[in-house]
Order: sequence, then structure tokens, then C-alpha cells
Amino acid sequence: MTTKADSGSWWELAACRTVSPELFFPVTETGPARMQVTRAKAICANCPVRPDCLRYAMSTHQIHGVWGGLSETERRALRAELANRQAAEVTWYPSAGTSPRAAADGSQPLPG
Ligand code: SF4
Repeated sequence: MTTKADSGSWWELAACRTVSPELFFPVTETGPARMQVTRAKAICANCPVRPDCLRYAMSTHQIHGVWGGLSETERRALRAELANRQAAEVTWYPSAGTSPRAAADGSQPLPG
């Protein structure tokens, strides 16, 4: 399992640096553990490196724990949303072999 301590120099400024890692890695997000997630997210809310933390978690596909103020479920939803956006951008291109530049400068017709 990757820990936040493996994650680079931004970790030096992390608000959770002196907090037990167990708070940020609840066994589940339901029941009593929901309060644990809430407490972890409250620490993230005041963390100066929150964007770095979330970027790291997303780019390294961290599945477990609270990272960058988002729970496992929230990061999974964000990952799905980003994938959907990326798919929408890819399908925008007119056809295979036509460059986005050619479509943009009018040398190739735009779709639709
Ligand atoms: S955003 Fe949260 S999990 Fe990430 S470094 Fe800051 S306090 Fe820790």
C-alpha cells in the first residue's frame, strides 16, 4: 500500500503529517467509520497542499483512504467523470487520421 509519506515533497507541508494515518484509511465509509472520514476531511479542508495531494492520488490511482479531501467513493466518481469528459473530447474529432489542428483551421470540415 502506498502511504502519504511516499508521495513527495509536498508531504512536508501536509496538515495530516502529525495525525495517525489510521484516521485517513478507514476500513469502510459507512457506519461509525463515516465519522472517521468526516474527521479526516475536516483536516484536509485546512491543508495547504490539498491540490497536490489530490493530484498525486489521482495520478497514482490511490484506491484506499482519504486523499486531497476526497473519500474513496468521491475519487472514484471524479475518476469516472474525468474519463467521461476525456471520451467526449476524443469522439469530437471528425475521423481517424484528421488532426485536431486541421479541423480547427477549417481545412477539414467540423462534425455535425
Ligand atoms: S489534503 Fe488531506 S490527506 Fe492530503 S496531505 Fe492534506 S491533510 Fe493529508
